[in-house]
Amino acid sequence: MAKVAVIGGGPAGLLAAREICRRELNVHVFEEDSEIGLPERCGGLLSLKGLSMISAPKPMKYVLNLIRGAIFHSPSGYEFKLDAKRWVAAVISRKRFDRMLSEEVEEMGGEISCGVRVRDVRRIGNNFDLNLGEKRFSADWIIDAEGMSSHLMKKILGKSPDKRRWIPIVQLTIEEHGLDPEFVHLYFKEYLPDFFAYLIPLNEEIGRLGVATKLKGLEPRMRKFISEEFPRIKVLKKISYVIYVGRPTWTELNERFIPVGDAAGHVKATTGGGVVMGGLISINMASALSELELGNDPNSYVREARRIYRELKQIFHLRRFIENVPIRLYDKIFKLAEDTSIGDDLRRLGDMDFQATSLKRIIYSPKMIVKLISSVLGNFLK
Ligand SMILES: Cc1cc2nc3c(=O)[nH]c(=O)nc-3n(C[C@H](O)[C@H](O)[C@H](O)COP(=O)(O)OP(=O)(O)OC[C@H]3O[C@@H](n4cnc5c(N)ncnc54)[C@H](O)[C@@H]3O)c2cc1C
Repeated sequence: MAKVAVIGGGPAGLLAAREICRRELNVHVFEEDSEIGLPERCGGLLSLKGLSMISAPKPMKYVLNLIRGAIFHSPSGYEFKLDAKRWVAAVISRKRFDRMLSEEVEEMGGEISCGVRVRDVRRIGNNFDLNLGEKRFSADWIIDAEGMSSHLMKKILGKSPDKRRWIPIVQLTIEEHGLDPEFVHLYFKEYLPDFFAYLIPLNEEIGRLGVATKLKGLEPRMRKFISEEFPRIKVLKKISYVIYVGRPTWTELNERFIPVGDAAGHVKATTGGGVVMGGLISINMASALSELELGNDPNSYVREARRIYRELKQIFHLRRFIENVPIRLYDKIFKLAEDTSIGDDLRRLGDMDFQATSLKRIIYSPKMIVKLISSVLGNFLK
């Protein structure tokens, strides 16, 4: 029976492993950290629809809070509120979520080795030789879910996500944010031109506050943001990492080395969020290789993975467009969203994950085009 090695025990690797186990193929996950789910480097904001699409483990003991919308803050303090008037997202504990996924994998017969770093991989014909330090491992397929490092992908496929599009981020767990815990808050600031700052509430008091930028001086910029918006908070915990805001990559099944998740840049470039969309590609590519091994047609799964990949590519183009909009115009843009009732349409038709598709659906209606033109004339040409 074919052997699949999964490199990395984050959500992308574990979701792939679960699909392979479901088809009773041999799968072994290698995770260099000593425990699944730690260290926890995530805001943990996932759409409820996305959680259902990736068949998230049940019961959902990892859900810490439920969210019904977002409040966007312009640099001058203008607020645009998007209230779905129903729960649309959850804030989760990645530690518990990843652990429950790993338990599902093990219950279905998958093997997981923690504290084992895959140091190197060599392709030998249709096989792979994995160097685990003291031991070696031979595999017919590799799911490369190594996250941001992507060094094995670079070695085997000669490509990787765009290194220039990883942005350093600091995320603090803070106390006494004093905001409505049913909404996430996004802050656009002149001194954070390449991303936004956010507050993801866990409850009335505790939240996750993130600040990201590629510019020099991330820490002083974070302090400035805190002094402006949250002067009274207490910091409980701090993590520093990176998020990807670039173009996704695509690898054909016949390579037998399939990068997924952050390793492949399968992330929404507008927000850096990768658990759901990266997870969906991972699930479909793992299903495809498993079906191929079982002698079945893998194409419906490859097509679905490609559909998600195309969506991520469009979200990347959306980000490139947003990057060219001067932050000083945000007041007018938020006002435009209110005037044209884009806010209402986003509430009805918006999708946190399929952002490009839902925006196209809203903007390309003839009624909206007329409203947009008249509002642009009224607001921007004054
Ligand atoms: C501050 C922050 C906030 C975020 N907030 C959100 C959010 O709110 N919502 C959202 O959807 N996404 C969010 N993200 C992004 C999300 O965390 C990633 O998209 C997601 O974790 C990617 O999953 P993955 O499995 O591809 O990679 P990872 O979760 O990074 O897992 C990769 C794993 O591979 C292991 N590994 C790497 N190399 C090797 C090797 N050679 N051998 C063995 N093991 C190896 C690593 O130890 C790691 O455990 C956030 C990211 C950050 C940094």
